Amino acid sequence: MTTNFAPMPDAHGFFGPYGGQLVPPFLKEAMDDIAKAYAEITQREDFQKELHDLQVDYVGRPSPIFHARRLSDQLGGAQIHLKREDLNHTGAHKINHCLGEALLAKFMNKTKVIAETGAGQHGVALATACALVGIACEIHMGQVDIEKEHPNVTKMRILGATLVPVTRGAATLKEAVDNAFEEYLKDPKNYFYAIGSVVGPHPFPMMVRDFQSIVGREAREQFLKKHGKLPDYAAACVGGGSNAIGLFTAFLGDESVRLVGVEPAGEGTNKPGRHAATLTMGKPGEIHGMKCYVLNNAAGEPDAVHSIASGLDYPGVGPQHSYLKDIGRVQYEVANDEETLDAFMRLSRVEGIVPALESSHAVAWAMRTAPTLGKDVNILVNLSGRGDKDADYVAHKLGL
Ligand SMILES: *Cc1c(COP(=O)(O)O)cnc(C)c1O
Repeated sequence: MTTNFAPMPDAHGFFGPYGGQLVPPFLKEAMDDIAKAYAEITQREDFQKELHDLQVDYVGRPSPIFHARRLSDQLGGAQIHLKREDLNHTGAHKINHCLGEALLAKFMNKTKVIAETGAGQHGVALATACALVGIACEIHMGQVDIEKEHPNVTKMRILGATLVPVTRGAATLKEAVDNAFEEYLKDPKNYFYAIGSVVGPHPFPMMVRDFQSIVGREAREQFLKKHGKLPDYAAACVGGGSNAIGLFTAFLGDESVRLVGVEPAGEGTNKPGRHAATLTMGKPGEIHGMKCYVLNNAAGEPDAVHSIASGLDYPGVGPQHSYLKDIGRVQYEVANDEETLDAFMRLSRVEGIVPALESSHAVAWAMRTAPTLGKDVNILVNLSGRGDKDADYVAHKLGL
């Protein structure tokens, strides 16, 4: 029996009890405008053709699936296969939804695309997409992050984005979100706010998922063609959840495929504030305009979070993941900083692939699980990005 997941979310943006639009009325209007435009524009042949051509000729899709034979042999159990999103232009899966969002903004005749960025990955991918489609791009970034993430800051400037330093408060991601949002509210009719994962008010969790779902559609077809059957497991790291839902969507109806999301356990899930395992340790709540699992502190405020991978440290998570956890269709596991660092080094040295620290969480889970399974079992891992950005940090940390 196959389950039909197509109607998700409902017309109000709900995945079961999660999602929705927890925003003031005037903002709800702006979100509804985007939802309406999204439904219309994405049906248009000229939009679909332009997006498809750019995915092929610009991003370099389809990304290959690589059988990590040496790693699998060393582990002595299941076969590990990698969906190579690290080979995309700009080096990660984020270009998939940034391209979709920038193109949508252009088709909606918006004058400016606005976003915040933490470590700068979303900012660089969005600045790239905006340069390509020819639309102004404004990135808000905390002053503390600007000083830490120099290469990404330089890249955004080279790509022509306007960088707005945010100096208030702690001057990191949270303040950048507030600042970017205030700018957006000045003219929601002409500006487009580009969210960086499957989070926020409807329609963003649906839109970002749809733009990312190409990952799983390709992977399912590639795997079937190469092996004559589907993988037994499909695994991905979960921050907000965009690369994971991008992989999972095509497999939701395949009951034989076990889906695994891997959250960052940081320094340990028993240490509040020192991990970001939202689905594993959190509770249903509200954050950033949606209902979802949230990590809250005793005062009911979003808790501090930590992960060795800055792209995963978010105290909320996509509403569809929250739903998939509750119905048991996806199993959510964790990997800590130490295992993740091991996986980063092992994949680099055994296969010559330097993974992003975010993606290394999913690799760590696969490395831990493969030896417990037979040699005929196949694990497909979404390698969401490459580790060039992490190389200096890891080398310093390990004294290389
Ligand atoms: C940003 C990022 C992630 C985390 O975001 P999701 O929305 O959970 O996918 C994972 N991997 C890489 C390489 C990233 O840059």
